[in-house]
Amino acid sequence: TTFADLGLADWAVETCKELGMRRPTPVQAHCIPKILEGRDVLGLAQTGSGKTAAFALPILQRLAEEPYGVLALVMTPTRELAFQLAEQFKALGSCLHLRCEVVVGGMDMLNQAKGLMNRPHVVIATPGRIKVLLEEDPDIPQVFSRTKERRPENFNTVFVCVFLLYLGSFLVLDEADRVLDAGFEEELRVVFQCLPKNRQTLLFSATMTSDLQTLLELSANKAFFYEA
Ligand code: AMP
Repeated sequence: TTFADLGLADWAVETCKELGMRRPTPVQAHCIPKILEGRDVLGLAQTGSGKTAAFALPILQRLAEEPYGVLALVMTPTRELAFQLAEQFKALGSCLHLRCEVVVGGMDMLNQAKGLMNRPHVVIATPGRIKVLLEEDPDIPQVFSRTKERRPENFNTVFVCVFLLYLGSFLVLDEADRVLDAGFEEELRVVFQCLPKNRQTLLFSATMTSDLQTLLELSANKAFFYEA
């Protein structure tokens, strides 16, 4: 199998070649065509299997076809993984004018809120920072309002939810078992409820858990299941 056989566009095939990816790995060969078809995917795959490109390439291809309509929310358990994912998205999407924002703890909240207002195509977030964005934060309203008036309660929640509702076409959980195990069930439930029902859900995990099953059942799509 070649990358072109999987239904990827010429620019994507060329980018893979430039990055030294000569042939698709098994998780890529199985999952890329299904994601391009619009299916939900649950892939049981380890780090090093090539799972990142397995979801990033089809998302970028959708983006290239529909630059104003696509937003992917990618959740991952740690900051380090979030930055690594962003690097891979940028490398694979180097010939698109990709706007990618990393929303993680330990970084300036105001800049992250501004970054979200630039309408990025891909938002890579850790559950902990999403939780903070959904909470009250005294620094945030100054970005949105020129007056010193009090913002409505839960302004951040409303903002994040509206943003996701209009733009969220893909929900990706990388290392999904760890994301769901991070102790942010309540916050994640808010985020998942905000995402459009017709989104594509892509879960990549080292292990199968009942939480993953539950999350897939929230989606209207029938999921494709891949196991190495
Ligand atoms: P991942 O499993 O997504 O963490 O990827 C592990 C590493 O494999 C990354 O550094 C990728 O750049 C690399 N990689 C992904 N797909 C391929 C491929 N088809 N051929 C060679 N290397 C790849």
